[in-house]
Amino acid sequence: MPSLLSLLRYRLSRLLPAEVAGSERLKLLTPFRHPLLVSRHRASLIVDRVRLFALLFAVLTPLWGVIDYLAFPFPLWAQLLGMRLLVCLAFFSLLLFYRDQEHMADAYLAMFFLFAIPTLFYVGSHTLLAHYQLTDLPAAVAAGYAFLPFVLMAGLALFPLTLLENLLVGAVLLMAQGIAGYMNWSTLNWPSFVGAFWLLILIAGVTSLACMSQLAYMVALLRRAIRDDLTGVFARNSGQEILQVQWSTSLRNNSALSVAFIDLDHFKQINDRFGHAMGDQALREASQRIQSCMRSSDSLVRWGGEEFLLIMPDTDMTRARQALDRLQRSGLGSRPDGTPLTASIGLAERFYDRIDSSSGLLELADSRMYRAKAAGRNRIQAI
Ligand code: GH3
Ligand code: MG
Ligand code: MG
Repeated sequence: MPSLLSLLRYRLSRLLPAEVAGSERLKLLTPFRHPLLVSRHRASLIVDRVRLFALLFAVLTPLWGVIDYLAFPFPLWAQLLGMRLLVCLAFFSLLLFYRDQEHMADAYLAMFFLFAIPTLFYVGSHTLLAHYQLTDLPAAVAAGYAFLPFVLMAGLALFPLTLLENLLVGAVLLMAQGIAGYMNWSTLNWPSFVGAFWLLILIAGVTSLACMSQLAYMVALLRRAIRDDLTGVFARNSGQEILQVQWSTSLRNNSALSVAFIDLDHFKQINDRFGHAMGDQALREASQRIQSCMRSSDSLVRWGGEEFLLIMPDTDMTRARQALDRLQRSGLGSRPDGTPLTASIGLAERFYDRIDSSSGLLELADSRMYRAKAAGRNRIQAI
């Protein structure tokens, strides 16, 4: 029995992609506290998929007008065609004019438009069709109009969404279905309406799983792409992207931005005397020490072999200096021979140093780091 339970536990633990680490599983549930680069990547992926969806709908919606023309009497097909052309125009506008930004708020708005357009069409066409008594082929084609909510609910599976986001969008689609039923209260066929509603809920469940597993793979792959394998802190490429984002944010908000280059002292000696594996261990320990001293909004980047860049948004020179003093006091761990591992640190801040470009800020911090080396190492150089 205990072995059966442990087998069950093992199987359950492997239901999510093995790549997704424990703390990342929470990120599948709500969009809060997602790392900056994950949100940016997710937002641009969602907007791209909205465009793909918009293109498909923009082309297919007017084409279906041919079938309406063949199946429905005048003026029904013409009224529907008018609606379809409006929908086509709205989708093309979404495809062409939606701006390219990498904030989740933009992604939500894009999805709102994508789902609002066909939902309005659905409610409008449903109301129109309810005024006609159709039989045979026209009735069959009219029944096809009831499938739109299913297409939308299934289409939601194209997006990497968290459970909470999924529930919200799903609830809105179910509500639209409910409203369409309510508006046609007098002629409503109850059993088939309830059956369809029930099916829609089931599709919503399956769609949530599809969305979350997409998001899980995205988070796991992104972590691999943006993190340094040895230390787990950001790799240089992502560090450059983070610096760009933080620089623009600090310009927009007129807020401080500090950066510090942290270069470990006489690191080569560790490799030379104790071997590369000990060097790797010292690097891991140093990066953990730095991370434990920084705020959650700060980003630590492995810029080169034994050189780190610490990006501190919303932090002026005084506070950055205090944080680094704290780091120096608590230490960066020890060398294999027991002596403390130290670092030379160059610090620069946008306002304090009157810098007007992110590369200027980096260069200044870098040159100060070299001055800290020249002045005897194990120190912070801020002027
Ligand atoms: P300084 O105080 O002037 O900075 O001296 P240093 O020895 O730290 O600097 P130097 O640039 O001469 O050497 C850096 C060393 O870092 C050389 C390289 O072997 C080592 N290193 C770079 N990346 C890694 C790594 O991933 N693992 C290990 N073990 N060592 C690394
Ligand atoms: Mg060094
Ligand atoms: Mg170096």
